[in-house]
Amino acid sequence: MHKGSCLCGGVNFTVSGKISHAPEACHCSQCRKQSGHYYAGRNVLKSAPTVSGEDKVAWYQSSEQVRRGFCSICGSSLFWAPLMPDYDYIAIAIAMVGGAFDTPTNSHIAKHTYVGDKGDYYDITNGVGQSEGY
Ligand SMILES: [Zn+2]
Repeated sequence: MHKGSCLCGGVNFTVSGKISHAPEACHCSQCRKQSGHYYAGRNVLKSAPTVSGEDKVAWYQSSEQVRRGFCSICGSSLFWAPLMPDYDYIAIAIAMVGGAFDTPTNSHIAKHTYVGDKGDYYDITNGVGQSEGY
């Protein structure tokens, strides 16, 4: 059982069972602006999280295909949700400003995406794979 919440505690979630996907860090400008740094998220099946305080989750549609969920009270980044019907996963923020999961997560960032769009004020140093796109 994995638990997490936003900063104010108004939104809580649980994900039961083992999460098979390792966290991925996205460095695109949209993720950096929304999270305040880069967005590290963990994909879980859309049906996997149980959310309480869902009425406090506000959604911003950042592109035709994706909407992002955040707490309407404290602003915590929580969810990255593709709108494509054939995409079965939703990402839950795991690190940096969007550190919604409680620790320990027993996981490590396994991939960096959109590194061509990353900020110039930090380096990626953990040695895992980097991709210009997804
Ligand atoms: Zn909150």
